[in-house]
Amino acid sequence: MNLTPEELRHWDRKAHWHSFTQMSEYEPLIIERGEGCMLYDIDGNGYLDGVSSLWCNTFGHRHPKLDAAIRDQLDKVAHVTNLGCSSVPAIELTKRIVELTPGDLDHVFYACDGSSAVEVALKMAFQYWQQREDPRPKKTSYIAFHEAYHGDTLGSVSVGGVEMFHDMFRPLLFSVHRLPSPDRDHLPDGVTAGTACQYYLDQLEAVLKEHHETLAAVVIEPLVQGAAGMLVQPKGYLRGLRELTNKYDVLLIFDEIAVGMGRTGTMFACEQEEVTPDFLCLGKGLTGGYLPLSVTVATTKIWDAFLGTYGELKTFFHGHTFSGNPLLCATALATLDVFEEEKILEQLPAKIAHLEKRLAELVDHPHVASVRQCGLIVGVELIADKETGQEYPWTERRGWRACRHATQNGVWLRPLGNVVVIMPPLSITLEEIDRIVDAAKAGIDAAVAPCGE
Ligand SMILES: *Cc1c(COP(=O)(O)O)cnc(C)c1O
Repeated sequence: MNLTPEELRHWDRKAHWHSFTQMSEYEPLIIERGEGCMLYDIDGNGYLDGVSSLWCNTFGHRHPKLDAAIRDQLDKVAHVTNLGCSSVPAIELTKRIVELTPGDLDHVFYACDGSSAVEVALKMAFQYWQQREDPRPKKTSYIAFHEAYHGDTLGSVSVGGVEMFHDMFRPLLFSVHRLPSPDRDHLPDGVTAGTACQYYLDQLEAVLKEHHETLAAVVIEPLVQGAAGMLVQPKGYLRGLRELTNKYDVLLIFDEIAVGMGRTGTMFACEQEEVTPDFLCLGKGLTGGYLPLSVTVATTKIWDAFLGTYGELKTFFHGHTFSGNPLLCATALATLDVFEEEKILEQLPAKIAHLEKRLAELVDHPHVASVRQCGLIVGVELIADKETGQEYPWTERRGWRACRHATQNGVWLRPLGNVVVIMPPLSITLEEIDRIVDAAKAGIDAAVAPCGE
């Protein structure tokens, strides 16, 4: 079948129900191919991929090593179940992940999307307390954060806290203890940069103290709450969070689906505060952003609680058809190889510093409330009036207007509300960073012009 461009646009509008997209207003952007950090549409227009194809692409598109890994594995076998069975790439990847992750995060459960990896962590944490040697069956609830995003299945939406996405489904969800985002850049009155970390930890401790007997786990996106608008946590928060969860005997789940795989400058966000959670969830960049593979890595304490005879019913009765799929695992193995062979992490500090230097040009912009950066993750928050703190009404879609302007000028960006997001592939060059920041600046200038003009 060879559809014409017009037919492609027609079917894309009429039948392809896009994620997070109002289909009555959708303007098709149809990509035909990619090369490095560039994407090309069916009309031959090029776009620099400023958001890593939604936060997952790691080394650009069509990386020869990743392409070859998939082709090589195809010549062996495309799919093998991991229900009581295994494949060579799944085992090799397991070993690599165990070696790479900190502490005794030594047991790897495979799923496909990030949402499922979070579901797995939530269910494992729950089951752990039911059946460990000294069971605590009352520990069945969770602490989660306002503005949190952990995916779109009902369990991950239950711990999610983005009103616009999640409120509709409240009647279907389990309730959680909800804490304000430990947000460095929007501090309540009386809280300063110097006291912020302790302020948020005190809030956490109050809930832990009162409810620890019924709490199974705390779930958080460490360092940066992504979909919230790239909200950055105060330094020291993760360390304090780990100390408090240990003190009150509550498990800790790190959702590193967005922030893992080098995005913040280290392979995993948790390394930056030398913290080991009980569960580490990875996805997105795990296959270089090529294919849907996610993992939930658990500690030995958790793993041990699930061991027993079949009759004891301690098995984790959960799995996905494509869990541990060899094509996906081979791609992830090649991804880890590229990290090593091309010294990807070693090259990040120069890129992060250059991005920071360029972003400084936006700090004093009259309609920029804050520029938040953590590694190669950036959120530029737009504001109607910097003096009074007056926000733009969300219906004016200022962030979307800025990003659309950039995209029309060859740099593909996608916002989060009034926040312009920049999240380039780790392979981005300094010159490409310049082009992205230039396009974002021009887009912001266009977007803050009075509406209707
Ligand atoms: C993207 C994301 C998810 C969900 O992953 P999917 O693969 O889209 O299901 C979960 N948590 C975080 C922090 C994410 O950024």
